[in-house]
Amino acid sequence: MHRRLASTRVIRYHGVVNRLREIFQRINIEGAIEFDYPLAPLTTFQVGGPAAVFAEPHTVSEMQIVLQTALSESVPYFILGGGANILVSDKGVPALVISTAGLSSVTRDGDDLSFGTGLSMSRATEIAAGYGLGGIEFLYSMPGTVGGAVWMNARCYGGSISDSLVSVNYFDETGEAQVYEMSASDFAYKRSPFQNRACVMLQARFRLVPTEPKALHLRMQEYHADREAKGHFRAPSAGSVFKNNHDFGAPSGKLIDSLGLRGLRVGGAQISPEHANIIINTGTATAEDIRTLIESVRDSVQQRLGLELEREVLYVGDWNGKHEVV
Ligand SMILES: Cc1cc2nc3c(=O)[nH]c(=O)nc-3n(C[C@H](O)[C@H](O)[C@H](O)COP(=O)(O)OP(=O)(O)OC[C@H]3O[C@@H](n4cnc5c(N)ncnc54)[C@H](O)[C@@H]3O)c2cc1C
Repeated sequence: MHRRLASTRVIRYHGVVNRLREIFQRINIEGAIEFDYPLAPLTTFQVGGPAAVFAEPHTVSEMQIVLQTALSESVPYFILGGGANILVSDKGVPALVISTAGLSSVTRDGDDLSFGTGLSMSRATEIAAGYGLGGIEFLYSMPGTVGGAVWMNARCYGGSISDSLVSVNYFDETGEAQVYEMSASDFAYKRSPFQNRACVMLQARFRLVPTEPKALHLRMQEYHADREAKGHFRAPSAGSVFKNNHDFGAPSGKLIDSLGLRGLRVGGAQISPEHANIIINTGTATAEDIRTLIESVRDSVQQRLGLELEREVLYVGDWNGKHEVV
């Protein structure tokens, strides 16, 4: 019975790939168009199956071609940044995955810098520091792209990326070019107006502050050293699994710790021995192991402390026929 179900899914998956192949073989861009493309190496958890179609447009106009094709053919799509906040299912993503890696432009206008959203956050902070412009240096060494950081309103060391954001150029759900002008009320802790939307951010503009480059580089090295000391890069992970909730009286990691769950394992997934709100891939984890561990931690906190943790890591792809995010 199980085997029949599995083979039905495989046939369905290949049916989807074939249809998408027909659609996307027709489009002509310099950037990559790949089929049945492995996603695990493009995520920081290093797990998960392939994308039915993977596109990496090199320019904004190529991005528009890919997006318009998906919209006109009603193909579901997922925008992939650095893959540092997602868990891709072992079955993969039976849809179009559009990587922003080709969008890495940098433009300067006085103290404002605009970055292509596919640029890594670390690289963006290095470039800003090179110009003697501060305000985003606290995000140095945080995995992921500028786009992913804006999407989640990434924060650390007392700052949020929205603190210096001015505007975002993006394609909306109909493929139209739009400009979002920053309004602080649209952003909150780990919230941005781009969540729950299917738009593609292209470029983000930041208002920065002239600062001595040496001082910026020194701070950046300190942030990096702190992350290293906390073991952030010792094993594949996606950083914090759950958001913090001030009403709970303690950060999620402390709550999980109070239940003695640190070190707990499911298959190759483990609650980090160094931080209870981080789950690591010890080398052999499947996406299913990681998800099972996440759900089990959430259930334990709910049952034993009566608190509902909100997941930060996003489930992407086909989870037993149930599609999440795409
Ligand atoms: C070791 C480690 C430490 C971390 N520390 C922190 C931390 O201190 N603070 C923190 O906030 N996070 C942290 N994270 C989580 C992660 O780094 C951030 O959430 C990061 O901003 C994710 O960016 P990304 O490009 O990888 O996004 P992805 O994981 O690729 O995508 C996340 C979401 O953003 C959307 N998205 C990405 N780019 C675009 C775009 N151009 N247009 C539209 N949608 C887009 C995706 O569709 C998806 O919904 C950490 C992760 C790791 C692995």
